[in-house]
Amino acid sequence: MKYISTRGSAPALDFDDALLAGLARDGGLYLPEAWPVLTPETLTGLAGRPYAEIAARVVAPFMAGSTLLGELDEIAAETYAGFSHAATAPLKQLGPNLWMMELFHGPTLAFKDFALQFVGRLFDRLLRKRGQRITIIGATSGDTGAAAIEACRGLASVSIFMLHPKGRVSPVQRRQMTTVDAPNVHNIAIEGTFDDCQDLVKALFADEAMRDEYGFGAVNSINWARVMAQIAYYVHAALALGGPARPVAFAVPTGNFGNVYAGLGARRMGLPIPRLIVGSNRNDILTRYFREGRMEMAGVTPTLSPSMDIQVSSNFERFLFDLYGGDGAALAEAMAAFRRDGRLDPGADRWKAATAIFEGHRFDDEETVAAIGRLYRETGELIDPHSAIGIEAARAASLDPSIPVVALATAHPAKFPDAVERATGQRPALPEAMADLEAREERCATLANDLPALKSFLRERATTQGAA
Ligand SMILES: *Cc1c(COP(=O)(O)O)cnc(C)c1O
Repeated sequence: MKYISTRGSAPALDFDDALLAGLARDGGLYLPEAWPVLTPETLTGLAGRPYAEIAARVVAPFMAGSTLLGELDEIAAETYAGFSHAATAPLKQLGPNLWMMELFHGPTLAFKDFALQFVGRLFDRLLRKRGQRITIIGATSGDTGAAAIEACRGLASVSIFMLHPKGRVSPVQRRQMTTVDAPNVHNIAIEGTFDDCQDLVKALFADEAMRDEYGFGAVNSINWARVMAQIAYYVHAALALGGPARPVAFAVPTGNFGNVYAGLGARRMGLPIPRLIVGSNRNDILTRYFREGRMEMAGVTPTLSPSMDIQVSSNFERFLFDLYGGDGAALAEAMAAFRRDGRLDPGADRWKAATAIFEGHRFDDEETVAAIGRLYRETGELIDPHSAIGIEAARAASLDPSIPVVALATAHPAKFPDAVERATGQRPALPEAMADLEAREERCATLANDLPALKSFLRERATTQGAA
């Protein structure tokens, strides 16, 4: 399988190189040259199989030609054995045709574990085969940092340096990062904002000599392998509800469009998914596009669902590539204009094609809290603010009521206990395996918002040997 860039001018790569590359050299995102299709017989044969087996069968065609293909079953088994629920991604019925898929039984209690636990293992095995090392550098305001650290802990060929703004991430999120006791994990609290952290990371990547010496890499959501791994839970849920014979729709709380794009992937692979319903918080560039046909950047507003506080949804470019008929040059021009002008109007025909599949609904904090309270009163279930937006989007969808809708629950309620308590009067408890999080020892350096200080910190701790 070859991977091509959405901007058309970077060379096509095989799976292994696309895995390590992340962003393409022309600034685009990698996509498979052609979408593999699973026949109805193959899909039916997967119904009822364990999650790890479904995951391996779904991702195998995307990894055709990879040196890791022979180890795929083992990698998938190892990845999902670390999840705490026997069903890995259990479905709960909330209403006559409304379901919730719980994607928070991984080690950091958010859906990002599904992809990062898998991709961390792919990275490690591939780098060891090549005799290379990589230094992952990232900035986080919450979930991503914890999931990335948990995915990289203890890997022989990876070191990870994660920056967070000091005092500005929630205590649970901070502790999930800083209590990981592994020699290759380095937490850094920066005296500054999240934007300062991101600027420092960008400045590090801009130092080409250092980048090459230490083999800097990223595990952000533009990595193709993350999208690919997420397709599996859409397939798993659809099969459980009678697919592929029966159509199933999905509702997804979205920031970067990375999760819901994997739902589109499941549709491309042959599952009848008539509708993908996007839920936004007040940072609603996507729902505005689906409603009005134009994209307009706006400043980021902090909300109760911070993992969706995003101005530009990076993975949307993968969908735009389809809307532009696979014309990378035309999309490169459109994206440059979007950066320059802060607005993009892809035109009426593309909007029509987009809204044939997607619809979007936006909820502010008050509506989010009301939704958490309402579901608790109706069913006794506690849900986190991100999941609440997905469930509300499912309820708001304009859809034939005979079609089941699965709303994706992306975080455990105990990750956002204040909002849940405000809505329900109940403070959700952490799962037992994490109940002692408060008591665990934290390991974290504090640095000023200062690039030279960060660089010397890195030089003291990162290894250069055989950098990728
Ligand atoms: C990251 C995250 C999201 C948003 O996912 P995208 O792939 O960026 O759309 C939603 N909910 C939670 C809990 C998250 O951590």
